[in-house]
Amino acid sequence: MKFIALTIFPELLQAFWDNGIMRRATAEGIIASTAINIRDHAQGRHRVTDDRPYGGGCGMVMKPEPLAAAIEAARQMAPTAPTILLSPQGQQFNQAMAQQLARHQGLILVCGRYEGIDERVTEQYIDLEVSIGDFVLTGGELAAMAVMDAVTRLLPGALGNEDSADQDSFKDQRLDCGHHTRPPQFQGRDVPEVLLSGNHDLIARWRRADGLMRTLVRRPDLLRVKPLNAEEAAILEKWRHEIDVLLQGRRDGGPGSSSGSG
Ligand code: SAH
Repeated sequence: MKFIALTIFPELLQAFWDNGIMRRATAEGIIASTAINIRDHAQGRHRVTDDRPYGGGCGMVMKPEPLAAAIEAARQMAPTAPTILLSPQGQQFNQAMAQQLARHQGLILVCGRYEGIDERVTEQYIDLEVSIGDFVLTGGELAAMAVMDAVTRLLPGALGNEDSADQDSFKDQRLDCGHHTRPPQFQGRDVPEVLLSGNHDLIARWRRADGLMRTLVRRPDLLRVKPLNAEEAAILEKWRHEIDVLLQGRRDGGPGSSSGSG
């Protein structure tokens, strides 16, 4: 995967590529990354990349010529890569989009600044606009990093352990289970006993059930996108039974019943 980021702050991206999984994926040839400094494609002694908006008003706009030249340089380096603009007005980024983008051989990521880029560059050059959420950043670099990070961890071999991306949240529209490491007791809280049992089948089942419970409580919308499988239906039936017993106890005036207090 070849990442080419167009930016006026290449150092921001370099720091990101130089650390952690990105660094290792680079060392192993899984990704190759380049920052193109838009300023290098600007004309004149001052290499200006922004200008005042037509129609007046505050803020600056990224000039079209340096951006167009930078995009054309990027396309020479990665001819099949789509040109993506990071923009709060774009399609909302999610795991499904990360999976789609991971299938490309390269991605050209255009990072805006100020009020954004000249609209004619968007019309002429941009294949896809991507937003990382309904909030406004000062620049597209952070958004480009989010996209590259999520895409990279999906590339075969990038995480070291082949199946660690397989259990992540949003894979198959479910959230991941909770995770625990040593010590077995921390500030009075124990690790769930099943995780210490050494029984891999039981552990796998506990993890699927824990992920299902988190999905049900935190993101029930995901359960509607992908219907329950037989195992999940059985787990929910069991919980329903337990909930029914609790509610019945309350109606019968058992402990926890509010009938006494009105
Ligand atoms: N005036 C623009 C916002 C410009 S913010 C508007 O209201 O639509 C400056 C740059 O930050 C943008 O060009 C874009 O590249 C980046 N950016 C800001 N918020 C973003 C978001 N939520 N997702 C992706 N990129 C974003």
